[in-house]
Amino acid sequence: MSNNWENNEEIQILREYLRIPSVHPDVDYEPCVDFLKRQAESLNLAFNVYRLFNEKSPIVVISWIGRNSSLPSIMLNSHMDVVPAYPEHWSHPPFAAEMDANGNIYARGAQDMKSIGVQYLAAIRALKKSGQTLERTLHLTYVPDEESDAIYGMKQFVHHDVFKSLNVGFSLDEGMTNQNDIYRVFYGERSNWKIVFKCSGHTGHGSILFQNTAGEKLSYITQKLYEFRKTQTEKLESDPSLEEGDVTCVNLTILNGGVQFNVIPVTFSATFDMRFVPDFDLKEFEKQLNDWCNEAGGGIEIEFLYRDENSPHTVTHLNEGNKYWMAMKKALTDDLNVKFKTSIMPGNTDMWFVRSVNIPAISMTPTINTLNREHENDEYIPVDQYLRGIEIYTKILQRIANIH
Ligand code: ZN
Repeated sequence: MSNNWENNEEIQILREYLRIPSVHPDVDYEPCVDFLKRQAESLNLAFNVYRLFNEKSPIVVISWIGRNSSLPSIMLNSHMDVVPAYPEHWSHPPFAAEMDANGNIYARGAQDMKSIGVQYLAAIRALKKSGQTLERTLHLTYVPDEESDAIYGMKQFVHHDVFKSLNVGFSLDEGMTNQNDIYRVFYGERSNWKIVFKCSGHTGHGSILFQNTAGEKLSYITQKLYEFRKTQTEKLESDPSLEEGDVTCVNLTILNGGVQFNVIPVTFSATFDMRFVPDFDLKEFEKQLNDWCNEAGGGIEIEFLYRDENSPHTVTHLNEGNKYWMAMKKALTDDLNVKFKTSIMPGNTDMWFVRSVNIPAISMTPTINTLNREHENDEYIPVDQYLRGIEIYTKILQRIANIH
């Protein structure tokens, strides 16, 4: 069986892409650019590479011009970068794309998300082979730095004239690999805050019960935030229909302070990672944080390291008014007859930026019955899932890119 797969053109292309170590930190994207250029040429597609924000962070756009190129286009986005891997914890080398006897291909990026980047191309190959053309133009965007801060990638790209010239009407991107037989369809993401609380207070000898110390303030804020966290944990546990993306999450991620064990330091600082559900009242929560700081005795400075604002566009509405979703849903139900579930994504992707400029976007990884190993050891993709994913994209593209 695996011998057949060895010779399958699509599997060969996937494995070639997975063998490029476009890994953080300090990613070298040039081998990806070369690979994608060859793919575009083999399919007779337009190829462009833009170095708009940083010479070392190229953005590749491969385009299949539609019959009616004046209609808004469909963007098929993927990121070229992958997170680091620790080979000593892997059963296969993370950039060798080895295939085991069951047809599982092991590589960093097998799920997140190089597989999707080449599935888009494979779907175009299948459509072209069967002599089809599409009404709307497809733009396959391959962006850098999704796994860091997207600063030279989609974050700025959505505001650039090159992006505007693509005239994107709808976008697809990665969702999450699912271990059961249900495809996950994400229509929104939680907004993201990274906050530092810098607590300062009375310094002095560690043997004295001074008032107004940094430690008490830190303890008060932390306690309030963990009480809030508990309400969200309870909400999640009390309703089996809820998922991580349906509740707000706060976590203490960095603690700093203190120099000597018998000296009360002037400052302690605590950094929190917070992810808010789309309808969360951020203004009210910020007021709450300020109130807690005052209740703690003041002298607490709040610094935002990162701050998303909620806007009406942060969610793509899945209703009758969304013709792209109606077409995609038809592909999933009528053409493919698959099970799917719509939800809010727990993490963030480039679609946050795309939705922020009011472009509807859906995130779906076409891989099911597979353990989610995104960012984990032994990330893999089963060959049959990979090939099925190509069929899924083929059907979805036939629907969404043929809307008049
Ligand atoms: Zn990803």
